[in-house]
Amino acid sequence: MPKTRRHRVRHSTQHAADSRMPLVEEGTIVKDWGGKLAVALTMPNTYYVGMSSLALQLLYRMFNQHPQVVCERIFWEKGAAEAGQPLLSLETGRPAEDFHLWAFTISWEMDYFNVVDLLRQANIPPLAVDRQRSRQWNGRPWPLLIAGGPGVTMNPEPMALFFDAILIGEGEEAVPHLIDLCQEGLDDPAALLETLDQTPGWYAPSLRPSNRNHPDFRQVERLWVRRLDQYDTASTLYTPDTEFSNMHLMEIARGCGRGCRFCLAGYVYRPAREQPLERLLASAERAITAGHTKIGLVSAAVSDHTQIDELAVALQEMGASISASSMRMDPISVPLIRAMAATGAQTLTVAPEAGSQRLRNVINKTQTEDQMMEAISLAQELNFPQLKLYFMVGHPTETEEDIQALIDFTLEARRRFKRRMAINATPFVPKAHTPFQWEGMAPADLIRRRQKTIYRALARHGIDVRADSPDWAAVQAILSRGDRSLAQVLLAIPPGGLSVRRFFQTMAEQGLDPEHYLGPWPVGSPLPWDIVQSGVSENYFHYELKLAARNATGLSCPPDSAGCLSCGACDLEWAFRYGTNEKRPVPAARGGPWRAQDWQPWTRLKREQHRQVAPIELTA
Ligand code: SF4
Repeated sequence: MPKTRRHRVRHSTQHAADSRMPLVEEGTIVKDWGGKLAVALTMPNTYYVGMSSLALQLLYRMFNQHPQVVCERIFWEKGAAEAGQPLLSLETGRPAEDFHLWAFTISWEMDYFNVVDLLRQANIPPLAVDRQRSRQWNGRPWPLLIAGGPGVTMNPEPMALFFDAILIGEGEEAVPHLIDLCQEGLDDPAALLETLDQTPGWYAPSLRPSNRNHPDFRQVERLWVRRLDQYDTASTLYTPDTEFSNMHLMEIARGCGRGCRFCLAGYVYRPAREQPLERLLASAERAITAGHTKIGLVSAAVSDHTQIDELAVALQEMGASISASSMRMDPISVPLIRAMAATGAQTLTVAPEAGSQRLRNVINKTQTEDQMMEAISLAQELNFPQLKLYFMVGHPTETEEDIQALIDFTLEARRRFKRRMAINATPFVPKAHTPFQWEGMAPADLIRRRQKTIYRALARHGIDVRADSPDWAAVQAILSRGDRSLAQVLLAIPPGGLSVRRFFQTMAEQGLDPEHYLGPWPVGSPLPWDIVQSGVSENYFHYELKLAARNATGLSCPPDSAGCLSCGACDLEWAFRYGTNEKRPVPAARGGPWRAQDWQPWTRLKREQHRQVAPIELTA
């Protein structure tokens, strides 16, 4: 029986290139390779960034849980590719080409550049077709390269030519079957790839066209986990060398039913699902017993968990210090904020996203100024050392009045909160499979001008104004809405040679027009990401756009027994899964209107003022 060691280890690797200091890590799994499927796992960024990713940690555990799999991590390091450093795994220092499978989890578009860097550093042909047509010097096939993560799930096309297969959906559903297929089929990579392409959730770009007008066009249906409570979605690795130093991260819920119209996370993980309280408390207890008292609650909207108040109080009683990734103030969870303050949280983050109520309606961020100001006053009362406000600049329909409203909002917050205060003014970037997918990005100069206006108005009030570069945001937007042509641009930029100027120059050399990717597209026109069937129907996006044009908000997902089929992400089986459970009655009519009593009492959402929901009129 092969021996698996879980222990506290010190690594001295090239990944600590900045400092050349050894990394300290707990939870590392080192396995004997003999006869096993060898999987390299990469988040294409530094160790520091990659180890903040719960997705990476969950995949690491999932692969290694299989007795016939050995999974080791490989990270990107700035400057390593151009310096010609060998690319080695963290656990045993194996080169990337020794692995059978190289799995990437990619969180955001700007890491696409690092993917290409890594393939070059590993001396692996970057294009999938070149790997599929050749073998390594020793006759072995190249590792099968696969990718997943929110960006490539919603628009795999800019990365399509680099990967043999791309997972459209959530890893928990795909990994066990992937392991079985690889164990049976590694000797014949071509047949393995064909099988994978026929497997739900998998997209082999070399085997199928992505253009919806092509006669062989077939969409890939997104995979999602129906029973999140069957998975332990919490940290398995602990290190001080990461943003969440030694924190026990717990994914308390996946997905968000609020429907902010700009938000990829709000659509890629539909429907919203959550971990039960008991499971979360058991996970926290194990971590605290092992000495990890810092608990980070992870979810698209932490305060939307139906038992967040109970969870916060219980964690506080257990002696945890609590952090939360992102929370809403409609409604505010006072117990959570109090528990965070009492256990030493340094920052309360509020995300109005836009300054005026009109613009918040357009983007469907339904929390009101009163609700957010109540939270800010509470942060002052509870002595939070820092308040952060997150805004986006350049939203569709944004005007100078909205920018003035943003300034006024922040000054009102300043009046209420007397300690350190920071705001982020991030450019809006249109994302695939959101209602704003057809919207263009505001010109970089306009965003820059508005960011300057914000800075001039607020910096003198002791507010730290952080504004991401609109030029880099434009690069991100091009990758976010990109197609396969972008692969040539990624390939043409040498390691270490990336700059905004170089990117746009390379686009021009490749005959690509940035304005095509940055401008608005006719609603309903073919999209580069048509290959992905996210579950949410195009009609639903049309409808949401119409509401946005009227400055009107849309609907949150109803409580989880409501039998809702509005956007299409839930299917009959899921929407009516509580049909025989008397405690969770199903509404009278599928598709609504919902009866008032059906909004009772399983969620905190019920405490909001829900208006009667009429069936949605969708466009033809
Ligand atoms: S079908 Fe209804 S409940 Fe399901 S994700 Fe869509 S809006 Fe939410």
